[in-house]
Amino acid sequence: MKLVLATSNKGKVREIKALCKDYEVIPYSELIDEFEIIEDADSFKENALIKARAVFKALKDDDVIVLADDSGISVDVLDGAPGIYSARYGGKNANDKDNMYKLIEDIKAKSVKSSPAHYTAAIAIVTKNTEYCVHGWMYGTAISEAIGDGGFGYDPMFIPLGYDKTLGELDDEIKKKLSHRSKALSLAKIILQTL
Ligand code: IMP
Repeated sequence: MKLVLATSNKGKVREIKALCKDYEVIPYSELIDEFEIIEDADSFKENALIKARAVFKALKDDDVIVLADDSGISVDVLDGAPGIYSARYGGKNANDKDNMYKLIEDIKAKSVKSSPAHYTAAIAIVTKNTEYCVHGWMYGTAISEAIGDGGFGYDPMFIPLGYDKTLGELDDEIKKKLSHRSKALSLAKIILQTL
């Protein structure tokens, strides 16, 4: 089964491909020119659906199955920030590193070295006739420093529950077992089997 991903985020594409080995996973940018999608909803679910619907419409192919991932990190000491704003936390043109260092500074500004935190992933599936959305979460601790260079995004400052190393240090295989994305995708695969 062919799945078109409504993202060109390299970290997400790499992880989704590794987690969906039984599918042919194609980022939409390999099929059509990339275009800006305004994610202006107030939940991961609605933003994932916005992306999947926009790409489905742009592809102009009724047979395609589009999958979108909207995800982010929520830090308790920051009342859940950055949450749905994770991709643009450091400003409009911020990259992953800018976003991570802003989060580190904001945690330090609360006079703590760490805080409970969690990642959320909403995975939307859009076809000609149906729309679905499933979620997955990964709990742990956000720390006020970056350690390791594995994973992507905020991974070097996130220690999953039950571990004493960041996702930047841990093997990819560990993140594959634990992650918000892998949990959401295992539900998404059940839906895909019914299509
Ligand atoms: P989105 O494209 O709006 O869903 O952006 C999600 C943002 O959340 C990414 O740019 C990353 O900064 C962050 N994020 C989501 N999932 C992960 C993850 O698995 N590890 C690290 N950062 C993540």
